[in-house]
Amino acid sequence: MINAWAATAAKQKLEPFSYDPGPLGAKEVEVAVEHCGLCHSDLSVINNEWGFGNYPVVPGHEVIGRVVALGDNAKGLKIGERVGIGWSAQSCLHCHECLGGDQNLCAEVVPTIVGHYGGFADRVRAQWPWAIRIPEALPPADAGPLLCGGITVFAPFKVFGIKPTARVGVVGIGGLGHLGLKFANAWGCEVTAFTSTDSKADEARSFGAHNVVNSRNSADIAKMAGTLDMLLVTVNVPLDWRAMLATLRPKGRLHVVGAVLKPIPVLAFDLIAQQKSVSGSPTGSPVSIAEMLEFAARHNVLPQTEHFPIAKVNDAIQHLVDGKARYRIVLDM
Ligand SMILES: [Zn+2]
Ligand SMILES: [Zn+2]
Repeated sequence: MINAWAATAAKQKLEPFSYDPGPLGAKEVEVAVEHCGLCHSDLSVINNEWGFGNYPVVPGHEVIGRVVALGDNAKGLKIGERVGIGWSAQSCLHCHECLGGDQNLCAEVVPTIVGHYGGFADRVRAQWPWAIRIPEALPPADAGPLLCGGITVFAPFKVFGIKPTARVGVVGIGGLGHLGLKFANAWGCEVTAFTSTDSKADEARSFGAHNVVNSRNSADIAKMAGTLDMLLVTVNVPLDWRAMLATLRPKGRLHVVGAVLKPIPVLAFDLIAQQKSVSGSPTGSPVSIAEMLEFAARHNVLPQTEHFPIAKVNDAIQHLVDGKARYRIVLDM
């Protein structure tokens, strides 16, 4: 039996929940969980904000742990190795996207916490390509949030070939945004933080921002006009989108990684005139995750974390709901 914590219906507190995972699949690995980050997406799934509605939900998709069992066809891993499991636990491995190295875009991708039991548990399973080896240099207690939050903000730099000479803006200094600042700075970019909270300005600088702009101050945003190559939007609230687009240079990209549920209105001419783009992306492929982890280890990019024991998981969730997380919560098993 696997001992986990689950929400049995939408918006419920998590309760202890044991389940029999059945025989290990041939391509699966089983991981003994040591630490697991608490991500805003866990909350969205617990609360059924995205309409997945598949209870019980065992949240947890920023897993750090050790391989304890390998299926007969699980490749490339050894018993005892430390691995991480992020948003995706499985993909089909044979479609165009999977064969092309974009496994995170597979139509049959199985999220770790949707129709699959996640990492708020003593053990969790994943298909072998999605259990990614953790570099020795990364402290395991704090590496978890890199598996979802980290790859989400790192992938756009790789996917869109952002150069170290680029100027990058990061909107929102939270769980995703503070990692975005750190990665952008380590990548070599000139980094501007956009935050609605003036009190976060010094912290934003400590995370790697060279400039800080109040995202509710139209005059300050207007001063940024035509300067940014990429604006990474990590918040899930509507912004003055037209003003944000105007901060971009010609060929600039406004890239959304925060799940804003309201539509983003865009005027065609705001894109056409200077060949600007609006785009979004979900986490990253196993290879991108592995590269992100190596980069994070090399440049000492780690989330700022707060730790809770798993028995206090509901307190941890409340801390996140209250907007008090600074900046990423990790549950210790
Ligand atoms: Zn996540
Ligand atoms: Zn596929």
